[in-house]
Amino acid sequence: MTRPKRPKYKGSGRVFKNPFLERLTKTHIAVPLVLFTIISCCLVYYGIIEKGFSTPVMVLLFITGAFVFTLIEYLFHRYIYHIKPHTHTLESMSYKMHGIHHDYPKDKQRLAMPPVLALIVATFFFILYRAIMGDYVFGFLAGFLMGYTLYLTVHYSVHIFKVPNNFLKTLWYHHAIHHYRQPNKAFGVSSPFWDHVFGTMPELRKPDTKTGEYIDKE
Ligand SMILES: [Zn+2]
Ligand SMILES: [Zn+2]
Repeated sequence: MTRPKRPKYKGSGRVFKNPFLERLTKTHIAVPLVLFTIISCCLVYYGIIEKGFSTPVMVLLFITGAFVFTLIEYLFHRYIYHIKPHTHTLESMSYKMHGIHHDYPKDKQRLAMPPVLALIVATFFFILYRAIMGDYVFGFLAGFLMGYTLYLTVHYSVHIFKVPNNFLKTLWYHHAIHHYRQPNKAFGVSSPFWDHVFGTMPELRKPDTKTGEYIDKE
């Protein structure tokens, strides 16, 4: 692990000395997007064709799953990725999971969890939700995983693409504030909804009338 003294913002950090393990920590963004979209489609197909769920029920489960994902996304980012490490091991793990992204936020190959790890986490959620809700898991998890792909798309876009000149620009500013000004605020990436609910919205001035930019309070 090579940790810069202060954030580089450009370039790429190193997680493992072993080149094979190091390679596994990187991914092209298209890999998880395609992978989880296919899995989601299979889950919907299986729910309707094999388990006999009606389309309206599947739609409802799908929307609920996507909504629950946004909560899990917020809680993961706030309490797991930004855990306060008390030991050296925990600090090292925390850095590998998320600290490295704060140091190299524009590293295109580390804007998504490695797909192998993401598949393991998705399997854990499948087992958990199956135990809670039985066969409803197919529609629910399909929405949950599409919530994840939407989150990945937003996160990749805000780091790689220019700020759009439309309503989506709030997402760019929201995540930029988390990265560059107030890392203990603005944990929601796909939307600021849960930041409003849990009181972690950054305090913003109104957009500057000339530049249209939002500037956070000093
Ligand atoms: Zn963060
Ligand atoms: Zn980010």
